[in-house]
Amino acid sequence: MTTGQPAPAEPHHIVIVGAGFGGLEAAFDLAGAPVRITLVDRRNHHLFQPLLYQVATASLATSEIAWPIRYLLRGRPEVTTLFATVSGVDAPARRVLLDDGGTLSYDTLVLATGARHAYFGHDEWEPFAPGLKTLEDATTLRRRILVAFERAERETDPERRAAWLTFVIVGAGPTGVELAGTIAELAQDTLPPDFRNIDTQKARIVLIEAGPRVLTGFADDLSAYAQRALESLGVEVMLGQAVTECSADGVVYGGQNLRARTLIWAAGVRASPAAEWLGAPADRAGRLQVLPDLTVPGHPEIFAIGDTVVIAGPDGKPVPGIAPAAKQQGRYVAQSIKARLRGGSFGPFRYRHAGSLAQIGKRLAVIEFGSIKLRGTVAWWIWGIAHIYFLIGLRNRLSVALSWLWIHARNQRAARLITQGSSKVVN
Ligand SMILES: Cc1cc2nc3c(=O)[nH]c(=O)nc-3n(C[C@H](O)[C@H](O)[C@H](O)COP(=O)(O)OP(=O)(O)OC[C@H]3O[C@@H](n4cnc5c(N)ncnc54)[C@H](O)[C@@H]3O)c2cc1C
Repeated sequence: MTTGQPAPAEPHHIVIVGAGFGGLEAAFDLAGAPVRITLVDRRNHHLFQPLLYQVATASLATSEIAWPIRYLLRGRPEVTTLFATVSGVDAPARRVLLDDGGTLSYDTLVLATGARHAYFGHDEWEPFAPGLKTLEDATTLRRRILVAFERAERETDPERRAAWLTFVIVGAGPTGVELAGTIAELAQDTLPPDFRNIDTQKARIVLIEAGPRVLTGFADDLSAYAQRALESLGVEVMLGQAVTECSADGVVYGGQNLRARTLIWAAGVRASPAAEWLGAPADRAGRLQVLPDLTVPGHPEIFAIGDTVVIAGPDGKPVPGIAPAAKQQGRYVAQSIKARLRGGSFGPFRYRHAGSLAQIGKRLAVIEFGSIKLRGTVAWWIWGIAHIYFLIGLRNRLSVALSWLWIHARNQRAARLITQGSSKVVN
């Protein structure tokens, strides 16, 4: 039967690629808009990357820092979540290409595909010095760290035992500093009573940085404080030393060999291939150079946000690759799309820097909020409360708070499990 009424128009279809901080925020903030959304991610979970190092160091379990994307959007019937890998974009045809041959048509596309670690042209180092970006990376590192202590326990040759008990972290940004401090505490406080043949307190934790100081994103006095705090935990900090070789035997840095069986890469990032998919301009780290409204040059219907893009902040410097920046961009894109659907427009994206935080061991941290600088235990409390606040869901907040309380009270790290990890990585 025909009613003589025209068929209702299909709602505007938005495809969001990536359910990290930027993509998920865009999906959340589009609530109530007259649109249909398809959210695509190659993983089934949203990951709270700032606490990944705590999974790598056996402090937290994987499920405490990750949530199924489908669950997070269960109350939004207009959002379809797809577990799929995007391999390209056919911009003239307005289609996203999937690696299994599938395609998705869009009216508006939001690319929020993040970044991965980079080896500055030495990808062959990755099996020896894995980086930290995904849950798989974290459980691989956890396995390597725990296996190293196990091997040392059985090793009778002093040199080989020393190599098992030497942990090298390359790169002294927040991730490198946080890893070094926590591995030092694992060796100093948690493990000693559990081993019989080795003194885990004799483990060497070496943090190598090519630049002149640790935490270069922070003010000079905070980075000097962080270095002293690391050294008081027993971490050896090597500054101004570029790593020139990584192998199964160890590293070469500043012309010297260091025998070590556990290397961790925390030195560089490379953007996802979003710029390549579009043939769009990119910087040396592969980050897509977006316009001030976060659209791709020549494609007003394609937004790109988060770690996969580069855009100048109010101080003229690139907006940092941190979670709050990706979330602000996700919110901006949602508002901009809503304005367009109302027939209006939205001004340029303006980044507001909320501050920088880094933890150095279980009771110390540094924080910089504009001219306010905090260090030590007070900073650690603020760091802890901020991280618990930004976790999703009451269960995870309680669970993480309890895990941290346990570490403080008992020095026990409940997630000390050796599981399979990546087969690509040499150990
Ligand atoms: C170890 C570590 C520690 C960090 N610590 C902090 C911190 O303390 N504070 C802070 O503010 N920031 C921190 N960051 C940075 C912060 O996590 C990032 O800036 C933020 O995640 C960027 O958000 P995004 O949405 O751009 O990308 P992401 O959050 O990385 O999300 C990208 C999403 O895209 C998906 N994806 C990628 N490619 C494809 C594809 N081809 N097809 C389908 N899906 C795809 C991924 O699976 C992922 O879910 C840290 C990062 C790391 C790695």
